[in-house]
Amino acid sequence: MAEIIDGKALAAQVLARTAADVAEMVAGGAPAPGLAVILVGSDPASEVYVGRKIAQCRKAGITSIEHRLAVDTPQEQVLALIDALNADAGVHGILVQLPLPAHIDAALVLDRIEPGKDVDGFHPVNVGRLSTGTGGLVPCTPLGVMLLLDSVIDDYRGLNVVVIGKSNIVGKPVSMLLLEREATVTVTHIETRDLPDVARKADVIVAAAGAPHLVRGYWVKPGAVVIDVGITRVTDFDGKTRIVGDCATHELDHAKAVTPVPGGVGPMTIACLLSNTVLAAKRASVA
Ligand code: NAD
Repeated sequence: MAEIIDGKALAAQVLARTAADVAEMVAGGAPAPGLAVILVGSDPASEVYVGRKIAQCRKAGITSIEHRLAVDTPQEQVLALIDALNADAGVHGILVQLPLPAHIDAALVLDRIEPGKDVDGFHPVNVGRLSTGTGGLVPCTPLGVMLLLDSVIDDYRGLNVVVIGKSNIVGKPVSMLLLEREATVTVTHIETRDLPDVARKADVIVAAAGAPHLVRGYWVKPGAVVIDVGITRVTDFDGKTRIVGDCATHELDHAKAVTPVPGGVGPMTIACLLSNTVLAAKRASVA
């Protein structure tokens, strides 16, 4: 049987470490790290994600500042809010919940965030820092993927890694992190030819396609490690909805280790958002 990598347990460890860091900072006289969360509109999934992030902040001792804006808020007003948060010394991290309504240019909004407060790691300065291996803030999901992999892999040098999906928020940044560790990384996507054959050569597969059960048992070589980033909500014949990952995990007994969905990458993403906020606060205090 493949080992099931427990993302919930690992996330709890990251959160406990983060809470201890916050307590130490505050005991040393520093203000509690502050995370500003901007939600434009009332997309139900976004509401759930924002609610979870704020609840975890509270548990870790991070001050969360919510900015809930109406769905028709003009772009200029969102940009002005970001300018104000950039200038606010009590705010160490700024998170804009995506997706934004269609009349707002998401790239413009994300580019406006001060890179040192960009705890999602999406600003071009942080993207550049990641690709040159020169620090910066790293996107939360890829950071979480690396911590999950670190729990079962000591040395990445020369390992063949196949990343499925080339998005800016998962596929590309996780590929950069793996390259930094000297893995041989193949980034694949919807147009990749013979993907099962490519995947079968992998020691590690990171599936981030958003395609339910794409990765079948015969795609995975015995002993490979499989990280399932995919989250797709499907409705069963009885009308009940459930979350499905990108991997047919029930066919992966021959793998060395796999992450479950839910309970794998998801909890790690929020934990890493909080650890990024603390990192941003620490850097601000020495700047
Ligand atoms: P995206 O839609 O931006 O990108 C998907 C990528 O997968 C694209 O590069 C596309 O070419 C590729 N792809 C799609 N179908 C494919 C197929 N059949 N074969 C090969 N490649 C295929 O998605 P994203 O934002 O990177 O998210 C990917 C998945 O990860 C989604 O299910 C998303 O919900 C999930 N996700 C989870 C977390 C988390 O915290 N667990 C965080 C972010 C994203």
